[in-house]
Parts: sequence; structure tokens; C-alpha cells
Amino acid sequence: MMAVDSSPEVPLIASPYDLRVSLGEKATETDIRTALETGECGFVHSFTTGSTVDGPGVRVVAWLTGCQFRCQYCHNPDTWKMTNGMPVSLDRAIETIGKYRISLQVMNGGVTISGGEPLMQHRFVLNVFAGARKMGVHTALDSNGYLGERLSDEDLGLVDLVLLDIKAVSSDLHRRVTGMDNEPVLAFARRLAELHRPIWVRFVFVPGLTDDVEEVERVAKFAAGLGNVQRVDVLPFHQMGRFKWEKLNMDYPLRDTKPPSPEATMNAVARFRAAGLNAH
Ligand code: SF4
Repeated sequence: MMAVDSSPEVPLIASPYDLRVSLGEKATETDIRTALETGECGFVHSFTTGSTVDGPGVRVVAWLTGCQFRCQYCHNPDTWKMTNGMPVSLDRAIETIGKYRISLQVMNGGVTISGGEPLMQHRFVLNVFAGARKMGVHTALDSNGYLGERLSDEDLGLVDLVLLDIKAVSSDLHRRVTGMDNEPVLAFARRLAELHRPIWVRFVFVPGLTDDVEEVERVAKFAAGLGNVQRVDVLPFHQMGRFKWEKLNMDYPLRDTKPPSPEATMNAVARFRAAGLNAH
């Protein structure tokens, strides 16, 4: 078994905007398979504390590595490869959350697991959530939804809130944005609705890519039709991740795209509100 938590000089608490590569490169294929099968170890880009935008209240956020999407606007492409993250034992992950338990409860917050795509490591996610639950800490999963089928209805009982990233409702546009089909994402959203599990939708608003009025209205209509969407966050595209694409020598398709104007973003928010949603 690989040595986990083997890089004490690499801090766990860090910004998701730090570029992190090869922290888990010593892991063998067997190590990775064992970690994925048991969920006793996870590959983690970083933990952040004090977030107020990744779920209710104040959150500790664990950013996991591994993602099967290739979003044109991804601001964390270093999370795509699982072994860019550091191997962290389940015990250490839970201990890290435990340090903040009281503050999280006082500030009506909890733990959010994001990424990358956290369901690439769904057993680790569920183990961490089970540990958080035992400590009375609220759990939120920030996911692109593609691997939602990996979670049984019982598993979903460990997830207090799903932050569901809906990149596009039109399948062609979704493929263009992410390289992947969106039917599993939409099916996961519908399943959560049937189970009456709460969702916060996140929609990244990118000039020239996802800012088409009809598409925004399609996403709003889909979200409103679910009946379990408590909140929608329209996230204006930004360029804080550009340096990562450059450092990783990757061809960044949106290198010259500008963030949307505040007015354009507010117009998109207004379209969600017009559909009856609590949008911000
Ligand atoms: S789903 Fe998230 S982490 Fe994955 S490529 Fe898209 S933006 Fe990046």
C-alpha cells in the first residue's frame, strides 16, 4: 500500500488557485485501484477554509482531483489528473474537518466536497461524509452530475445538499463545452428531484459560449421544472485559471475571452428569477 500523507511539507490547507501537479505520482496503479475501491484514501488537490460560496454558511471545502469533463472554461485543469493530487488518508481528512467542527456548526456551515469531479472517488466522498455526519457536520457535494448513478438512494442520504453544475441543457452545446454527453447529468437531476433531495444549481456564464439567451432560458426552464432547486448561482466566467493552462502547456480555448459585464450577468440572473427560481 502506498504511503499516504507522505508529504508533510505540502500543506493540505491551500487555495484551489494554487497550481498543484504530480503530488501523487508515486502511487502505483494498484494503489489507485485500492484507493478507489475502499475509499480509505483520496487524492486531494487542497482543502480550503472559510468559503461562503460553496453551500450554506461557512464551509470547509475539499477539492479532489480527477475529472472526466474537459470544460473549455475550467479554471482548475490541474485537477483533471487524479495523481496531481496528494494521497490523503480518510482519517486525516476527517481529522482536518474535525478541527473546524465547532466553528462550522456555529456558522451554520459544513463541509463541501468539490473538485475536479468528486464522484470519480465516490467511495472516499461517502466515507468522508459518513465521518462528517457522525460529528454533526452538514455535507454538500459539488458535482458535474455525470457519475450520479454511482450513488445509491441510501448513499444520497449522506448528502445534505447537491451543488449541481449544469453546463448546458442543449446536448450539442454541452458536448462543445465539456466534451461529454449531458444526459446522465440531467437524469441525475431528475432522480434527485424524485427523491426530494435539495439542489443548488450552478451555471457558468461565459460570453460567446453559454450566454445565448435561449440557452439560459432552457437551463432556467429545466431547473424550475425539477421542483427541488433551492437556489441558482450564475457564476460569471473569469480568467483566474488562465495561468494554469499556460503553466501546464495546454491549449486554452478561452484565453482571449473576457468576463461578462455585470449587466449581462444580471440579465441572466433575471431570466432564472423570471422562471420562479431563487437566483443570484
Ligand atoms: S467539471 Fe469542473 S473540474 Fe471538470 S473540467 Fe469542468 S470545470 Fe473543470
